[in-house]
Amino acid sequence: MAWFAQSHRPLPWKGEADPYLIWLSEIILQQTRVEQGLPYFERFRAQYPDVYHLAEASEDEIMKLWEGLGYYSRARNLHQAAQYIVQELGGQFPATYEGILRLKGVGPYTAAAIASFAFGLPYAVVDGNVFRVLSRFFGIETAVDSSSGKKQFAEIAQALLAKEQPGPHNQAMMDFGATHCTPRAPSCSTCPLQTGCHAFQQGRVEYLPVKEKKIEKKNRFFHYLIFNQRGQVWIQKRVGKDIWKHLYEFPLLELNQPVSDETVIRNSAPWQQLLGKSSAKVSQASRPFSQVLTHQKIQATFWEINVTDEAALNSEGLLAVKRENLSKFAFPKIIDWYLTDNSLYLKLL
Ligand code: SF4
Repeated sequence: MAWFAQSHRPLPWKGEADPYLIWLSEIILQQTRVEQGLPYFERFRAQYPDVYHLAEASEDEIMKLWEGLGYYSRARNLHQAAQYIVQELGGQFPATYEGILRLKGVGPYTAAAIASFAFGLPYAVVDGNVFRVLSRFFGIETAVDSSSGKKQFAEIAQALLAKEQPGPHNQAMMDFGATHCTPRAPSCSTCPLQTGCHAFQQGRVEYLPVKEKKIEKKNRFFHYLIFNQRGQVWIQKRVGKDIWKHLYEFPLLELNQPVSDETVIRNSAPWQQLLGKSSAKVSQASRPFSQVLTHQKIQATFWEINVTDEAALNSEGLLAVKRENLSKFAFPKIIDWYLTDNSLYLKLL
């Protein structure tokens, strides 16, 4: 706490008392670095200053504002939880740990953070930063991602919690892990906990915390088909239950290997469905765009296809959009990269 008093990072949501804004910031910061989340928090706060504004917004609007932040289920859950608060709780943010935990997209970590920051309730936050500090300081070798590890660390964190000041205590623990006892090159030489720190005293800092699982990443190859006709292109809304649900995309062909042969694209289902026997020509295939996610590596190629003006299209389930209007829709990051990279938002083919 003494370290925190001197070293804490000035962030707009610190010291915030409004549970709605605290909740908003915590959801934005799940799996997101503070520097990346900060501008999003500011934009959401400006556009939706309270839970009523958020509940009334359309999902497309929220997804658009969330665009680029990733893990889009957070945005969908945020919206649904706002509607639940307005419709079921009369706009009153839940003021108990259990009530907060009932909100969609809120797990034990986020519930503890909101309960302690907004309501001063004695619940310890245990995130990756806290795991690291506890594991090093006490020299605990139990894997932090094992069920026994999670239980053990949660118990220690709860026992250590300054019950009369749970909010500042939690914030101090998280900040200490995020900025001082960092994953790589922690500042041990200037650390106020140095003399009591087991890992430092035993020379085991770089070995702690221990992790059990190594995540295997799956390779996926996406081929996006961009059909151009009279300045329009066709897009579709993703409905499948995955991280891009309810975002827009171009008709997609997914293969288990990279492809440069145009005939594969011509014979693909999206091409056949939209064009049938109508004539069209591939005008350009992009360089591969890559994105590494937690469980998968995506490689995307974008195929620009010029459709003759007379061609009759079967565009069932697809939306025709003028190219200059593409920026109004929320796309997965990798599509945004392509559009931005090529300055194609405004280019009419
Ligand atoms: S001495 Fe090093 S490892 Fe130990 S708590 Fe401080 S920064 Fe972390």
